[in-house]
Amino acid sequence: MLRNYLEPKWGMRIINEVTKASRLGTIFSPIYSVAASGSLDFKMFLNGKWVMLEQRIEVRSPIDDGLVATVPNASEQEADQAVQSSYVHRNAIRTVPAVEKIEIFQRARELLLQNKDSFVSTLTLEAGKPVSNAEGEVKATAERLKLTPEEYGKIRGEHIPGDWSDETIGTSADVLREPLGVVLAISPFNYPLYITATKVIPALLAGNSVVVKPSSQDPLSFLMFTRILEIAGVPTGTINVITGKGSIGEYLAQHDKVNMLTFTGSTEVGKRLARVVGIKELHLELGGKGCAIILGDADIDLAASETVKGSFSYSGQRCDAISRVFVEFSVADVFMKRILEEAKTYKVGDPRDRTVQIGPLINRSAVEKVNELVNDAIDRGAKLLTGAKFEGNYYYPTILCDVPLNARIMWEETFGPVIPIMRVKDADEAIDLANRSQYGLDSCVFTTNLNLARKVAKRLEEGEVTINAAPRHGVGYYPFGGNKNSGLGREGIGYSIEEMTRLKTIVYNWKPAKVWADLMK
Ligand code: NAP
Repeated sequence: MLRNYLEPKWGMRIINEVTKASRLGTIFSPIYSVAASGSLDFKMFLNGKWVMLEQRIEVRSPIDDGLVATVPNASEQEADQAVQSSYVHRNAIRTVPAVEKIEIFQRARELLLQNKDSFVSTLTLEAGKPVSNAEGEVKATAERLKLTPEEYGKIRGEHIPGDWSDETIGTSADVLREPLGVVLAISPFNYPLYITATKVIPALLAGNSVVVKPSSQDPLSFLMFTRILEIAGVPTGTINVITGKGSIGEYLAQHDKVNMLTFTGSTEVGKRLARVVGIKELHLELGGKGCAIILGDADIDLAASETVKGSFSYSGQRCDAISRVFVEFSVADVFMKRILEEAKTYKVGDPRDRTVQIGPLINRSAVEKVNELVNDAIDRGAKLLTGAKFEGNYYYPTILCDVPLNARIMWEETFGPVIPIMRVKDADEAIDLANRSQYGLDSCVFTTNLNLARKVAKRLEEGEVTINAAPRHGVGYYPFGGNKNSGLGREGIGYSIEEMTRLKTIVYNWKPAKVWADLMK
């Protein structure tokens, strides 16, 4: 069945589907033109204009590597123009009253929902995302826009009275949150719409201007979102979007006029950026190696279904994916039996087919990396329960048990649909193994003993621990972010905006008002 989807005719069908202008709502017509080959040539957004460049990058669908569209391949010259535009207009949104900013985002939400089908089909084609995941991404983005009043409400200051010492008496201070200026957002391929939007929304809401560099694998949905922000009324020059390769992101990140870098992507690139950015605010959301800890008293049906969902959703291409399992000896056999049954209910195939849960990985090199990690584990003695095969960009759901500790898959980020399982003596051994990881993003623990759950959660060196469910960042209602090599800072409603503002202290000398002198009479 999968092979049918991979036949060349499907490639043709992809091209036809995307290039039919009717597939994209008419509001998007200013952002692309149709090339002689029939593919769509997208423009990028520079200083309030949609700009076409001769140098192009091909966007190919992971479904079958068919050409979906092209985007401009920006040079340093356009990168400079983008930063200059955001710099010159850095106060444009700062001076818009919050109620009007919120109205802009509510209009953007309506436009997003009116054009939901265009976004879902684009996300499915450019990222190979199963339809239900693509719908979830659009819904979460709409929800984030809806919650902007809540988010704005988190911008608060404080009043500090000066009656502390002889030196401060007769003074007081107001501590305000102010925008940073120009925020650079660099985003990964796995949530090209949602992650990028959840950097841009709080940045603008806080009064910053932004320059965005989306992933060159799948930049289309965010270009479409930018068009929506433009129509909704985001002031000219406040958002500039540069399409290009990683090297242009690195150039932008070092720019003197950029005040903050918010980066989501691999630990490798994050570390490199941390070395070169210079003096600016830095927010890094990096890789993960989340584990599920299944204790002897766990509800095994729940643990099995959540572990499979947490590992296989979007083919495991999520920073919060479960990619190691530590299960207590006493329940290990029954857990593995249940997990195998559960895994069999996951269907692999074309992500446009609504019955499919596992689509392709983003590209061939991702498939090769996953396969290398799986074979390394098998070579070192892991038992294969299912999977360990691929066709094209499609990696079959894989379960490995009794994976030895020297297998690379126990330590390196997998980003594929693989569950490596290891039996452990007790919670202490699981915590010790979990904490030996270089990463510290998400993990989960399954137990019916809440005191034990609390103890495990407190001892895990993770940014977030979920009890009795798979980790899930969702709309960002709860804060999330990494420890160790998983990053710096926290994202979420109210939390992102805090990262995108800085404190200013205004000290007042009240001595001329003679309040203290009068009181001491
Ligand atoms: P990536 O290869 O690190 O790329 C991320 C972004 O950085 C892309 O826009 C990429 O551009 C750009 N880039 C590449 N090299 C660069 C450089 N030298 N300087 C500046 N920018 C550069 O990551 P990815 O493969 O897209 O995404 C997967 C990774 O993201 C995983 O490690 C995952 O765990 C992590 N992630 C973390 C979170 C979190 O919340 N912690 C969430 C989602 C994903 P090109 O696309 O043009 O190369």
